[in-house]
Amino acid sequence: MPAALSARADDRMLLITTPRFDEHTTPPGHPERPDRAHVFDAVAARWLERGGRTAAPRPATEAELRRVHLPAYVRAVAATAGRAVALDPDTFTSPESYEIALLAAGAAVQAAEHALDHREPTLALVRPPGHHAEPDRAMGFCLFNNVAVAAAAAVARGLTRVAIVDIDVHHGNGTQAMFYEDRRVLYVSTHQFPFYPGTGAADEIGRGDGEGFTFNVPLEVGATDADFITVYAAIGNVLREFAPELLLISAGFDAHADDPLASMRVTTMGYAAIAGLLVGTVTCPIAAVTEGGYDLRALAACLEATIAALDGRTAGSHATASNGTPRADRALAAVRAAQARFWRTI
Ligand SMILES: [Zn+2]
Repeated sequence: MPAALSARADDRMLLITTPRFDEHTTPPGHPERPDRAHVFDAVAARWLERGGRTAAPRPATEAELRRVHLPAYVRAVAATAGRAVALDPDTFTSPESYEIALLAAGAAVQAAEHALDHREPTLALVRPPGHHAEPDRAMGFCLFNNVAVAAAAAVARGLTRVAIVDIDVHHGNGTQAMFYEDRRVLYVSTHQFPFYPGTGAADEIGRGDGEGFTFNVPLEVGATDADFITVYAAIGNVLREFAPELLLISAGFDAHADDPLASMRVTTMGYAAIAGLLVGTVTCPIAAVTEGGYDLRALAACLEATIAALDGRTAGSHATASNGTPRADRALAAVRAAQARFWRTI
């Protein structure tokens, strides 16, 4: 049971974070920088001022990590403790990174567990992000795949329908890889395409038992709020059809127009609409875990919008029906060609 720092009856959401997330440092000029943790701190402080509840994360256990990562990889990251190491061209450790990455993955598990145990929405504000981390390697700023560790924890509790919706502008290659043959975890991603990391084509649909349970919606560069809202309305149909027992959101905000890494044009209102649509679609517990988002002001605003949606104050209010857009229609045509035999409502 996480320590509740304060409580108010009408605040339903729990926020999980720690000021320690700034202890994972990256080289000067790196976009995934400790200042992002200071944004989390400011958002958490405002949440507390409004009477919200926060909890500090616990570290993930080795057993939890091993559900999605190879033991040799977990040992390799552990061996970076106390050292600054380049794990891939974009992914670095500082002496504290292993410990902080354990807290990030632990926060994600805790968010899922709290959402399931108390049927309250949860938001874990964590760094480093996770969705590029693969079973056997770090990648794209990510050490451990936080949201995947959380999904695996839910499956370990006996859940058979866990949905992960990845709203980060990059495709979550690591999350996809971890559940590619597993129908218990539906992985849905919207992402700029073609773009880093190169995966996420519409015809990547899963394999074997997992066929149809990887659901990629690649979007052309420049996608707007209207494009995303159209696409998320279709995703909402698939989510209703899947009827998840838990919805995990890989909450990246780098599709924002102000983000320096990508080239999409989503506004803060657009992210509010996406969050509201997801909240308004499912009836199951929801846990959101941060991923990317590299413009600090946009990150703060999108987190506030996400909190408002999770806290039930804006659920569905922005989720107006869209008549479609050419860019969204092209994306959905590719998705339908790949997925129509698995999903009636797409
Ligand atoms: Zn990203």
